[in-house]
Amino acid sequence: MRIAISGAGIAGSALAFWLSRCGHQPTLIEKAPRPRTGGYLIDFWGVGYEVAERMGLAPALRDIGYPVQEVRLVDDQGRRVSGFPVAPFRRALHGRFISLPRGDLAATISRAVEGGLETIYDQSIAAIEEHDRGVRVAFTRGAPWEFDLVIGADGLHSTVRGLAFGPERQFEHALGYHVAAFEVAGYRPRDELVYVSHTRPGLQLARFALRDDRTLVFGIFADHRMNGPEPRGLDERKALLRHVFHDAGWEAPRILQAMDGVDEIYLDRVSQIRMDHWSRGRVMLIGDAAACVSLLAGEGTGLAMTEAYVLAGELHRARGDYREAFRRHEERLRAFVAGKQAAAERFAPTFVPRTPFALWRRNQALKLLALPPLANFLIGRSFQDDFALPDYGMEAG
Ligand SMILES: Cc1cc2nc3c(=O)[nH]c(=O)nc-3n(C[C@H](O)[C@H](O)[C@H](O)COP(=O)(O)OP(=O)(O)OC[C@H]3O[C@@H](n4cnc5c(N)ncnc54)[C@H](O)[C@@H]3O)c2cc1C
Repeated sequence: MRIAISGAGIAGSALAFWLSRCGHQPTLIEKAPRPRTGGYLIDFWGVGYEVAERMGLAPALRDIGYPVQEVRLVDDQGRRVSGFPVAPFRRALHGRFISLPRGDLAATISRAVEGGLETIYDQSIAAIEEHDRGVRVAFTRGAPWEFDLVIGADGLHSTVRGLAFGPERQFEHALGYHVAAFEVAGYRPRDELVYVSHTRPGLQLARFALRDDRTLVFGIFADHRMNGPEPRGLDERKALLRHVFHDAGWEAPRILQAMDGVDEIYLDRVSQIRMDHWSRGRVMLIGDAAACVSLLAGEGTGLAMTEAYVLAGELHRARGDYREAFRRHEERLRAFVAGKQAAAERFAPTFVPRTPFALWRRNQALKLLALPPLANFLIGRSFQDDFALPDYGMEAG
């Protein structure tokens, strides 16, 4: 089948990989002008890691990943107040845990697609018109094309979802926070392989040292700290972050100064996408476009990979009966993904406590993760994915 995939992120690239392997003709349509590496750091583990293993990507991902050693929570003066070593997590997950920039994961997947992949950059779908034999897709530039299926893998603010299902506000479930991330060059101190984080009620600021003397800065804050509408453009984003973090203590002044020279900042609401159905006719959504779990789940990339794998597998098994494949895809994944969304929502007050007491209680609780038996028990309970990856006979390659 000729399958248009909107978005060359994690879900889109992984879907293209599996569809190519099954003999379909995927075309990736990406809004960005070129392949993007870098971006914010993600922890990658769970059932998505198993998909990466089936794709033969685990060694390459380990090469480019960062073996994080410690999560260190510090006070205003930079003194350690809590935290935990990461080794017990890695052990409990049998080493299947990697931290790496989101863009590097997507680029690694794209490069692995066999036989070359048609990717059209700087392009976006503008209209979708379904007819008896397929879908006519119009673009923001150039002539329309015919496809058999259209897959929206274009993230939290999916264009395909908007065109086929309606406005985002119907499906967005905001969790009450905003998140920001950007990279700075030459920042000091570095604390290699340590995620250093400072929390005050309602906000968290953190840094992690990357290769090539770059540092990733991560900030999250409760919406009530905002003083106006959603910022548009780089300057408004900087102004908002200066306003929110100006009295955050610790290294906030130094980080905000370093931000002055930055020319790209990720800033967005922390939201989930909740829909009754992920498909309509010949259009299907996967990844954040269908069911964003938010960064608070710590597993959005793994789920995106899993959804891509299951969709390709069900299309393979249904031998062209896309209705049957779409139905079985949802049937397999819906409860699993809903469970991850619920867990992420429950976790939010722990990640960014809103009162001094809640912050103190969180820091005390995290100290327990340094005690091996307790860490093993808690990690075992919270980090095992209750999902058996099906075998579709498309893995060998
Ligand atoms: C700060 C932060 C930290 C996170 N941390 C983690 C973590 O630790 N672990 C984890 O597993 N997950 C984490 N996540 C979540 C994770 O990044 C997402 O769940 C994951 O990237 C979803 O993959 P996706 O392919 O669905 O979407 P994306 O990776 O967002 O890819 C969407 C792609 O679509 C493209 N696109 C958008 N609009 C269009 C359009 N109109 N036309 C064509 N292309 C378009 C985009 O440019 C992009 O390439 C985090 C998220 C954030 C914001």
